Amino acid sequence: ITIENLQKVYKTEEIETTALNGINMHVAEGEFVSIMGPSGCGKSTLLNVMGLLDKPESGSYRFLDTELLTLRDRDRSAFRKKNMGFVFQNFNLIDELTVFENIELPLIYNKVNASERKKLVNEIIERMNIVNRNKHFPQQLSGGQQQRVAVARALVNRPKLVLADEPTGNLDSAHGNEVMELLCELNEQGTTIVMVTHSAHDASFSNRIVNLKDGHVISEKINKSRSAEL
Ligand code: ADP
Ligand code: ADP
Repeated sequence: ITIENLQKVYKTEEIETTALNGINMHVAEGEFVSIMGPSGCGKSTLLNVMGLLDKPESGSYRFLDTELLTLRDRDRSAFRKKNMGFVFQNFNLIDELTVFENIELPLIYNKVNASERKKLVNEIIERMNIVNRNKHFPQQLSGGQQQRVAVARALVNRPKLVLADEPTGNLDSAHGNEVMELLCELNEQGTTIVMVTHSAHDASFSNRIVNLKDGHVISEKINKSRSAEL
């Protein structure tokens, strides 16, 4: 991923907020990058732009050889559904759907047929250690289990890129570590991960930390204990 000079301004009535002010960043295939920085520095905006959920005013965002910022709306959402998975702080599971149905959603978006969906969902449920929870609804699960379901949903489609926004923010430290270990395992199997976090502990699982301030990158730090694996 190559990001150049991203600029994002939010306009509300009289106020203009520059959320991204010339972001330059490179993420290698298979890398696990943490984005850190004070509240309001643009972390979530950057993640939303990378997830094609929000559009910047200017700049370039290349993913493999495709420039994503000039894609038409239809192509953009098709690209997102095919290549990206999301993990959010508040899990973002759909309360009215069972665990199985929540995990199945990205496959339905991608028009995968029912028998293939069943196979893929059951595989990932096994991997995430939530086998006996298939028919439960999110509210019947602990926070750690809900986040495992959310990670399963992000992965079921085998996306190239997983975007995680404070994935352990609502979890106690034991469940938080479980989720971080899952993300690491996934990364070791080749998935590129970009994670926003306030937690130095969570960031220690990643290969590199990118620090933002006032909408741009102020420093980067390679995590020596994990970068050797790249
Ligand atoms: P972070 O995730 O680092 O806390 P954000 O990306 O959420 O930062 O926000 C960056 C800046 O953009 C902040 O000043 C925030 O108030 C502003 N901002 C974010 N979203 C909106 C929005 N939808 N409308 C107006 N301003 C916004
Ligand atoms: P649009 O067609 O308007 O771009 P989509 O139908 O692609 O929107 O997506 C609608 C919403 O569903 C998005 O805001 C996104 O947050 C969510 N979404 C889409 N794909 C996924 C996915 N694979 N995993 C989780 N949420 C998704």
